[in-house]
This record gives sequence, C-alpha cells and structure tokens, in this order.
Amino acid sequence: MSGNRRTFLKQSGLAVASALGFPSVVCSAKEAVQKPDALPRHIIHLVADGMSMGTLTLGDAFARLHRQRGLRLFDLQQTAGAVTALVNMRSLNSVVTDSAAASSSWGSGSRVVNGVLNQLPDGVDLYPLYQLFKEASWKRGLVTTTEITHATPAGFVANCSSRGSAEDIARQYLERQVQVLLGGGRKFFEADKRKDNSDLLKAFRDAGYAVFQQAAEMESASLDRPWLGVFASGHLPYTLDQYADPKLLTSVPTLAAMTKRALKWLERSDHFILQVEGGRVDHAAHNCDIAAAVREMVAFDEAVEVCIEFQRRVPETLLVVTTDHGTSNPGLVGLGRSYSDSLKLFSQVLRAQRSFEAIADTLKSASSAADVRKILLEATGCEVSETKAALLIESVNGKRKSLFDHMNSAAAQLGQLMANYVGVGWTGTSHTADYVPLVAIGPGAARFRGFLQNTDVFQNYLALAGIEYRNPTAPLMSECGPSADEAEFGDKETEMFA
Ligand SMILES: [Zn+2]
Repeated sequence: MSGNRRTFLKQSGLAVASALGFPSVVCSAKEAVQKPDALPRHIIHLVADGMSMGTLTLGDAFARLHRQRGLRLFDLQQTAGAVTALVNMRSLNSVVTDSAAASSSWGSGSRVVNGVLNQLPDGVDLYPLYQLFKEASWKRGLVTTTEITHATPAGFVANCSSRGSAEDIARQYLERQVQVLLGGGRKFFEADKRKDNSDLLKAFRDAGYAVFQQAAEMESASLDRPWLGVFASGHLPYTLDQYADPKLLTSVPTLAAMTKRALKWLERSDHFILQVEGGRVDHAAHNCDIAAAVREMVAFDEAVEVCIEFQRRVPETLLVVTTDHGTSNPGLVGLGRSYSDSLKLFSQVLRAQRSFEAIADTLKSASSAADVRKILLEATGCEVSETKAALLIESVNGKRKSLFDHMNSAAAQLGQLMANYVGVGWTGTSHTADYVPLVAIGPGAARFRGFLQNTDVFQNYLALAGIEYRNPTAPLMSECGPSADEAEFGDKETEMFA
C-alpha cells in the first residue's frame, strides 16, 4: 500500500466519520415489511458477470431443459414487492465497460477508466464502499467463482491503477479486514508465487483468519474467526468441467455452497453486506462457449435461490441481482421452417461434457478432420461435418480469417462452427454496451426502480446504510478523438487460444 493511499484513507475516514457519526441502523423484521421506506440491516449484491439479455434468456431456456424449472431470478421478479430496473453501466472513457470500471461505479459512485479500480485519471483514490461500511460497523463479505482478487470483487474494496495488480489487491483485503473471502486465486497469496515472496496465507492466519483450500474445510470452519477460502490457484473450474471430474466436484465448492456458508458467517452480525459473483459466465461468453455459459448461469441461479430463501427468512435484507455488462451477446436465432428448429437445436447443449477451455490444447494439436470430429463429439455431443471440421483446423492455425476481425480467435471460430449445431450466434468476443437488468427486493428496493446510472447503486447503498458521503468525479471522456491508451481491458487471458 502506498504512503499516499494510506494517508488518503486515514484523512477520508476521519472526514467521513466526523460528517456522519455513523448511526447504527436497526429495524425489526416486522418494521421492515410494514414500512416501505424501512432501511435494510443486510445487503446482498449478486452479479452474474457478463450476462447479456441473450445469456439470461438462454440460461432460463437451458434451466427448463436441464432441471424442468426456469431461473429463480424470474420467480423473484414476479414476487410482490420486487422491483426491476435497467442500468447504464458505461465507464468514464467508454460506453463499453470492463468489470473493474463497472464494479468501481458500484463501489465508489464514480465512473473510472476501464481497467482501473476506484481511482480517477488524476491518480486520486476514491473511498471504496466496503471501507465506508466498515466504519459504519457493517461486516463485509466477497464470494466469487473467479480469483478472489478479480475486478468485480475488488471493486468494492480496493484502490488500484490496474485491475491486474492482484497481489496488491490481496494485501488490501488483509489491510481492510474483509471478514469473509471465498473464491479462487490462491497463487496471489502464496510466497513462492508472489513477486514479493511474502506469505500472505500466513499473514492472514496471523491476523486471525481461518485459511482453507477445500470445500469440506469451508463447511466445518469455525464461525468465530474471519475466513479466507481459496479453492483453486486461479479461477474456479467451470461448472461443466467440474461435473466431468468427480474430484473437482468434491474439492471445489459451488457458488451456492460458498454463498450459504458466507451468509451463515455474516448473519450473526447486526449489519452485513455481501457481494456474490458468478464470474465465469463472462469467461464462457468471451469464448463463445454457450454450453459452459448456461451451466454457469444455472450455478449462479442456485446461489440466487440461496439468497432468496435467506431474504424470506430475514426480510430486513435488501437483495439486488444484476450484471455488470453484456459479453459477446449470444442469441438463439430463428432456424428451420417457421423457426421451429431453434429450440430443438439448442437442446443439443444438454449433451455437452466439457468447456471449450478444457479441449483447447487437444484441439490445437489435432491434425486431421477426423481428429477434430472425435474431440468435438466427446466434448459437445455434436457430430460436426467433415467439411466444417477441416475449416476449423484452418481457423485454429490462422490460415482462415473471419470478415469481422473480432471473430478471428479460434474460440470465436469454434463458437461460430457450433452455432450450426446449437443455433446460438455471437456478436464478437468482447464486452458490449448493453443496458443491464437489475432486480431488487427488500427494504430500500424501491430506490432501484426504472432507469438507473451504475453510480446510483453506490449512493443508494450508502443512503440505506445511513451513510452520507460523496466521492469526487471526473468528466466523461470523449470517445471520438484518438485514444491515448489503446490497451485491452477485457478478460483476454481467458481466451482459450490467446
Ligand atoms: Zn469479461
């Protein structure tokens, strides 16, 4: 942590504390239900990262095929008292946001440049949501299927000029004492993997944390200590790949299981805020991999279900379910006579056994169309034609280009090939400018009605916690002139052949 930041936080903390006196807001369950303007004691913020309307729609369609019941998110939307909004998630420099700028807008109430966490272009750090809530004595938790240091969880806690500074973000979690941390990204805590060789797992233990790496340890962990659970070196495996490997199924907890345990820990306190991220919906969409994406959607929905049940039991809870942006915008297209083949084709997704990521290496080394057909049959359950298999080899080897340059990656080419068999087309491999849906229920939900700016979410959470604070903002940057920084900010590293 830089000296500047430390000084800044200290000064801001004092300013905030003196301005507010931080009321402890408590209302009973009965009050919360009876008073429409009641304040929540708990806030749960659920994010399906990179969930465009197409991903949401196909997640629902897949859930109906897979478990004969659609997404619980839509049941929630139908519940009395639930409100729905559309949100403009744009960042400071673009109508297309990345996850760092998106989460920063929720986490500081200010728009920042893509790739940055809670910092304005002039280097001024913004006071993050979880620091404000910490000073108001709210307990805080982060749960994700990505590395725990990834942009979406980090946006509620950290200040960084680059979302890639995962090792610094891990340290900030310790310094800022987030009580519940569950996800992947163990390598950013391990002495032999960190650039500074410091043993952050030990540092967390020394600070009183229970540190664990297995699902079973999480289930039995003492509630008397804060938790750091890191269940994979990098991101947690795709749900689809977990089902193909029974060992992973037992060692890596589901998002729903992590959410349940996090709530168990947090619900003992008068006030808590928890962010839950289904982070790999985004990664699957970057890879144009619909089978992996819809299974991540169902896994996310199971976590939503855990939270709905919690909210019913503890109605002083404000539950917000949303996404940070669209990614690659899949869509089930009209196929066949009167479009009557679309759903039949999409149901082929049920046969998939492995993600594109899992077969990337074997596919890259395949030398014949017969090999490609065999690999794809095992992974996707689809019999790809010999002609298309041959074309894919040319694409993977860079000998065949798409007319749309953004669809040149081998993952995108494979996604397009599979569109012939599952009926799902893609707009590209990066984030999109979509306005995103948000559903809220519980005390304070009425604030989330209509058309919102992403930054309103921060202001609403603060108002509902009785905290008065406003971070500085910077004017929106023009996108018309030449860009000073041409860096890529998506999850490029997750593209399977990148
Ligand atoms: Zn992404």
